[in-house]
Amino acid sequence: MTVLNIHWRFDLETEESVTRYCPQCGRKVSFVDSSKRRHNANGKNIYQFAIYKCANDHTWNKKLDIYKAKPVLTVNDTEKELCPESVEDPTISIGELSKQGIHTLCICIQSVASPLRLDRALSTKIKDVSRTQIQKLIKQGNIQVNSQTVAAKYLLCEKDYIHFHLRDMSCL
Ligand SMILES: [Zn+2]
Repeated sequence: MTVLNIHWRFDLETEESVTRYCPQCGRKVSFVDSSKRRHNANGKNIYQFAIYKCANDHTWNKKLDIYKAKPVLTVNDTEKELCPESVEDPTISIGELSKQGIHTLCICIQSVASPLRLDRALSTKIKDVSRTQIQKLIKQGNIQVNSQTVAAKYLLCEKDYIHFHLRDMSCL
């Protein structure tokens, strides 16, 4: 059994929708998280933004996080590392982990700022499994919380352990 232990924090995650003034609509509207993220470099800092959209498709970028870019000491042709490591895509691929021979993914929830459903937490962090597939895996007991089968709507708490068994992914 190969177990991969990872830690997730949801304190920087945002609400699914935010009511705020849309300058283009000219009134207060509800902006919904598109779950798209973008990064902007600005001098030494790299900003991560969540892209929100109003009903009329106007976008608003909510600042989520700031990374410090690593100072580049030498710049030559062999060192073209433009993106510092911290800007890695925060999502994971179950397909890739499975290929690496990982049987179980053990996810420790370090913090949860707002009520967060198990299926939503997983679908925002895993890029190659849909929310519907995740709900199926939860139902089948391939995804468990604290070694127990729970519902997809289970609200995560700090120090919860999610076990994601990758052994039977053929159902996907
Ligand atoms: Zn608008």
